[in-house]
Amino acid sequence: MSQSVALITGAGRGIGRAAAIELALRGYGLALVSRTGEELRETRQLAEGADAIEIPADIRAPEQVEAVVGRTVERFGRLDALIHCAGLAPAVSVERMTPDEWRDVLDTNLSSAFYLAHAAWPVFRRQNAGVIVNISSMASRDPFPGFAAYGAAKAGLNILSLTLAREGAHIGVRVHTIAPGAVETAMFRGLRSEAQWPAEKTLSPEEVAAVIAQCADGELRYTSGEVIFLSKTLAGA
Ligand code: NAP
Repeated sequence: MSQSVALITGAGRGIGRAAAIELALRGYGLALVSRTGEELRETRQLAEGADAIEIPADIRAPEQVEAVVGRTVERFGRLDALIHCAGLAPAVSVERMTPDEWRDVLDTNLSSAFYLAHAAWPVFRRQNAGVIVNISSMASRDPFPGFAAYGAAKAGLNILSLTLAREGAHIGVRVHTIAPGAVETAMFRGLRSEAQWPAEKTLSPEEVAAVIAQCADGELRYTSGEVIFLSKTLAGA
């Protein structure tokens, strides 16, 4: 049987990089996507031994997303798991946010998920199998001030994922949504310093990656359509 293949957006750092390393350990072939080629190269080196390709692309552009999926299938002959980790989370008050900034956050976090699913769907239909894992956020139900666009985009992502799960069920497609609270990445540290939010209260990217892998591998198959909220603050840690 041929190896499973995962396409990971946001694979250059943070949660996406940790997902790449975890899925490499589980034997997946990897298509690594973000805009920064240098970071993708580092991820590929860290995912030691994995059969991996780097595809620098901007997931806000539907034609680039089509090309990314096409290149993945051309290289590996299949696509089993679409892991959408790329995201953008600026904290900007509604008064200061420009329409361009609003659109950028919506495009990066929400429209991209539609472009990816749309591009992958014919492949999944042909295979009669496929998994999507969308990384949402605790902000989809409990946003910081300044997260009007981000919280709305992630709440939209939760519903997009549920709709896709319903459309995919009869063709063997599962769609999972993982919504973490604070995770120890560059994104989070750009929003809250250690003095404001100590490291003991953040999840590690590896902890989130383990849940991503459980969704991809089917260990959490019965959560398809659901939002899986992850948080350290209520876990007694
Ligand atoms: P991160 O460290 O900032 O990494 C974000 C990744 O997304 C980078 O590889 C970035 O690469 C890529 N990316 C951003 N815009 C892109 C675009 N237009 N096209 C292609 N790639 C793009 O963020 P993270 O903390 O790992 O976050 C990963 C996901 O988890 C996001 O969806 C985020 O909203 C979500 N999340 C994070 C936290 C947290 O506390 N960290 C909590 C809840 C949810 P380039 O900039 O090079 O393109």
